[in-house]
Amino acid sequence: MPGNRGERPAPAFLGMPVAPRGVGHLRGAEPFPAAARKALANTQLRRNLAKATSTIRAKRAAVVAELPDWEDLRAAGQAIKAEAIAHLGRYLEQLEEQVTAHGGTVHWARDAIEANRVIVDLVRGTGATEAVKVKSIVTDEIGLNDALAAAGITARETDLAELIVQLGHDRPSHILVPAIHRNRAEIRDIFRREMAGADPGLSDTPAALTAAARAYLRRRFLSARVGISGANFAVAETGTLCVVESEGNGRMCLTLPDTLITVMGIEKVIPRWADLGVFMQLLPRSSTGERMNPYTTMWTGVAPGDGPREFHLVLLDNGRTAALADPAGRQALHCIRCSACLNVCPVYERTGGHAYGSVYPGPIGAVLSPQLTGIEDNASLPYASSLCGACYDACPVKIDIPSLLVHLRARHVEAAGRRSAAAPTRWVPGAEAITMAAAAWVMGSPARLAAAQRASRAARVPARLGRARHDRIRRLPPPLSAWTAARDAPLPPAMTFREWWQRGHVVQPGAERESP
Ligand code: SF4
Repeated sequence: MPGNRGERPAPAFLGMPVAPRGVGHLRGAEPFPAAARKALANTQLRRNLAKATSTIRAKRAAVVAELPDWEDLRAAGQAIKAEAIAHLGRYLEQLEEQVTAHGGTVHWARDAIEANRVIVDLVRGTGATEAVKVKSIVTDEIGLNDALAAAGITARETDLAELIVQLGHDRPSHILVPAIHRNRAEIRDIFRREMAGADPGLSDTPAALTAAARAYLRRRFLSARVGISGANFAVAETGTLCVVESEGNGRMCLTLPDTLITVMGIEKVIPRWADLGVFMQLLPRSSTGERMNPYTTMWTGVAPGDGPREFHLVLLDNGRTAALADPAGRQALHCIRCSACLNVCPVYERTGGHAYGSVYPGPIGAVLSPQLTGIEDNASLPYASSLCGACYDACPVKIDIPSLLVHLRARHVEAAGRRSAAAPTRWVPGAEAITMAAAAWVMGSPARLAAAQRASRAARVPARLGRARHDRIRRLPPPLSAWTAARDAPLPPAMTFREWWQRGHVVQPGAERESP
């Protein structure tokens, strides 16, 4: 088999064992509730986010409304991704054959450490000490910039928003608009402070900021010997890689350097060239609210006299085969990273991306990160949602994010069970699992449910003690106080429904208070 697989044969990679994981979760990040509380107190951040997300939402809604077959396109996108993921091994091997046949080299990386090692070795092999990068969230996932820096190689981000984040020593907070949390005045200050050669009197008009970035980046493009990119899609049938972007920086990174290294999550493969036609309609409308992307670059291996002379494709697992092994969870691998779910999410709009403490923020981050880097490291993420369903309605490939969130909550409750010290192999359920199991036991029998309902009358005691108002209990003792700290608890009725029914009562209009 052609390609560079290190010490391992390909079938072990494709056999869906639980793969080792790396980076992805931001170490030291606070759990979502604590981080969200801080973010909510930042009024500037909330203003920036509300303005940006409402603008993108309106643009998306307008261009989606133009297509009478939008729902058919979504169904087609969903079907293509489901097919690709169901036969991932076959399509990845076909992709490798095609890339290799066209002069490229394929590397397989089980985790972030392997991927970084491969990329660092490739850059070192060229003798370069700098590389230009086109925006790639998967390189954030593996912590590539840090790995390159540790090897004495400077990674230069060239996407405008990524450049702002890099110069500001910041972290991306959105999949598509990584500096969405910054306004123009903040960006001007970062450029004045950090950008070599920036005009000290630089204004904060979009034209001035863009011109400053263009002049700064142009020098980097023209001297770069190595380009590093991600990929939006990889076509198994032809070995073609595809990057879509809006600024033209991607086109320069992908064509000017002698060596191009593309790192791609294994779930980005699609079966056929014709499938691109569906995604080229779904992606720009869902992401930037445009009918088509300003720049769509596609390449197949290398072509003499045209573009890079060397092309390397790094196929990254990093927890994806573990997600694939979960029949319910694998849906998250269908994601095409359009970010539509972030822009419609009421939680994201108020907290921003940093609160998620994960490379992938927003609703998709809440279902992807726990699967890629472990539910224990991302325990609060499946709860970072009101389950309103807006993400599902917006998703161009119809990922049922609300159901996935509920599924991951169940997995978290299971994982929260600790092992007994006396019998380390025995699973001991946590408090929530015990509560749920007890509720299931009670509800499994009409007699037990009736007894529990009668017993619940004890909760009317606070009313008799004057600690309830308007049929609501305001404060319960611990641990139930966790509920009443943020919500009212309704008083149980004086009579259960069964008792009322057995007495043959008929509710008259206006006499509801007599009923249970
Ligand atoms: S989950 Fe759907 S809406 Fe969200 S980024 Fe992925 S493809 Fe886009």
